[in-house]
Amino acid sequence: MREKIIEIAKKYDADIVGFAPTSRFDKNDPIFKIFPQTKTVIGLGFRVLRGIYRGIEEGTTYYQYTTMAVENLEETVMPLALINVSNYIEEEGFEAIPQRKNPLILNEEGTTNPEVDYTDVYHGVKAENQLDFTNCAVQCGLGERSMIGSILTKEYGPFIRYCFILTDAEIEPTPLLTDNICDKCGECIKACPGNAIDKNGETDSWRCAVYYNGANGSKNPFMPPDAFPNFENRMDIINGTAEFNSEEAKEILDSIYFYPPAKHSYRASICGRACDRACYIHLEEKGVLTKSFNKKFREKEDWKLSTKQFETQKREKEWDFGGNK
Ligand code: SF4
Ligand code: SF4
Repeated sequence: MREKIIEIAKKYDADIVGFAPTSRFDKNDPIFKIFPQTKTVIGLGFRVLRGIYRGIEEGTTYYQYTTMAVENLEETVMPLALINVSNYIEEEGFEAIPQRKNPLILNEEGTTNPEVDYTDVYHGVKAENQLDFTNCAVQCGLGERSMIGSILTKEYGPFIRYCFILTDAEIEPTPLLTDNICDKCGECIKACPGNAIDKNGETDSWRCAVYYNGANGSKNPFMPPDAFPNFENRMDIINGTAEFNSEEAKEILDSIYFYPPAKHSYRASICGRACDRACYIHLEEKGVLTKSFNKKFREKEDWKLSTKQFETQKREKEWDFGGNK
């Protein structure tokens, strides 16, 4: 059954498949609330193609990352793999409970999901049990938890997304990854255009949302010169150094519609996950990734736009995308 599951998962584009026995989980883990009879958690990892980051890496095209790496993987590729592997498991007489992230429902009150429109997020929904996706990825042996809480795989580093299946079938486990891929170099922290990750690796999700959406003028070619006209600290926002709380973050996000969103509430990523790209570049340089390329991902200095134009606050018609949302 194990080999057949791997075969089907790979046929439907999973790149890494791992199996975790329930003995690896705390007795209060959400897996037992969702399906108390769980015997195995099956993890499916999907690489984010390196080329999907290329447009944002070069500052040439922004749509591809959000639509292909986020929307397409989460809304099309993963559900297809989940449903086909689950169909097989149920054909064999076991139950299969597919689990993909619900990006719009957060159990916590005070955080947000930078990938989606914050106004569409339901906060503090305790009644909806969701897996701890990062922990499941670790327990299934897909990758290691980095110092900033991302999953690093030995194949693709941070360029990975994942989903799971809970089943009452007992399947031989995958060993845990013990590679220590994350060396705490801090390149991910330095790369964030909004200083959203502190030195201990904690990410401020509201700060991340603001800069994921492109509040840093030096990394956003779509930002009009008079961006954030109602903010006294507009140049601090544009430079990525402003201090703000979650309420102020919402006000900034309401003023940030310089680029159209994708479907399913996904906001366009303008930072292009600079933290993950910096990590990938670091791991590639160290030679620790098993999937190698003929050329390095970044072969020249990272680019930056001047923020001088924003100081004038002059409206240029050519930048007008048709007004705020
Ligand atoms: S860049 Fe990667 S390896 Fe370095 S600290 Fe960040 S997550 Fe760890
Ligand atoms: S680089 Fe982007 S995704 Fe990473 S923490 Fe900063 S804003 Fe968030």
